Amino acid sequence: MNPDPSPGIPDGRQGERNALVDSFLRDPRSRVQDPRVVAVMREVPRHRFVPPDLQAFAYDDRPLPIGSGQTISQPSLVAYMTQELKVRPSDRVLEIGTGSGYQAAILSRLVREVYSVEIIASLAETAAKVLADLGYDNVRIRCGDGHAGWADAAPFDAILVACAPEAVPAPLAEQLREGGRMVVPVGPQSDPQELLFLEKRDGQLKRQGTLPVRFVPMTGGNGIE
Ligand code: SAH
Repeated sequence: MNPDPSPGIPDGRQGERNALVDSFLRDPRSRVQDPRVVAVMREVPRHRFVPPDLQAFAYDDRPLPIGSGQTISQPSLVAYMTQELKVRPSDRVLEIGTGSGYQAAILSRLVREVYSVEIIASLAETAAKVLADLGYDNVRIRCGDGHAGWADAAPFDAILVACAPEAVPAPLAEQLREGGRMVVPVGPQSDPQELLFLEKRDGQLKRQGTLPVRFVPMTGGNGIE
């Protein structure tokens, strides 16, 4: 696992991060329990991943705009999706939809390597800079269409998709190792989407559970699906 750059470096926001995480843990509807996920949620400075004028709201449990019409996901949902990937320290994980880089930062504290694909170049560049400034050096970011996955780094132990395709793109299913897990919101933009928790068994993606959600659409996909 990556050596930890953040703990012990006071950033003035630790109390707010703890209050946010404590609020999920106190909520009887909260499904976030994994102590490793709870620890990284207390550690990663979410305010560094949002635009300066929104930093005051970074520790509210809600999505926030990050520019180019995109959003950073709600922290409790980031925590839950991360928990359900059931990652191990030796894992290599693919994320589709880097956005701000916050989800990639959370994953980077729990696994060996994170590969993250973002279709909007300006977001990919900003996320790469913030991650480098914070010392999260086991995250690789590529600008491109996530429908194709990241073939030259496959297979992955886990895949997290942060934008909603109409159906799971075939290359992502192929690039997941046997026994690996995928979390992906599937469905049209107009209706609530289903967040699918999948596991690959005998070459097929098997559903472990679902949750109604609303993510931004997965764009692109020409000629890939
Ligand atoms: N995980 C992000 C939230 C991402 S929002 C975070 O922690 O901030 C979803 C992101 O998916 C947006 O940035 C959007 O530009 C990106 N996206 C949409 N379609 C995509 C595609 N085909 N390939 C890669 N990224 C895509």
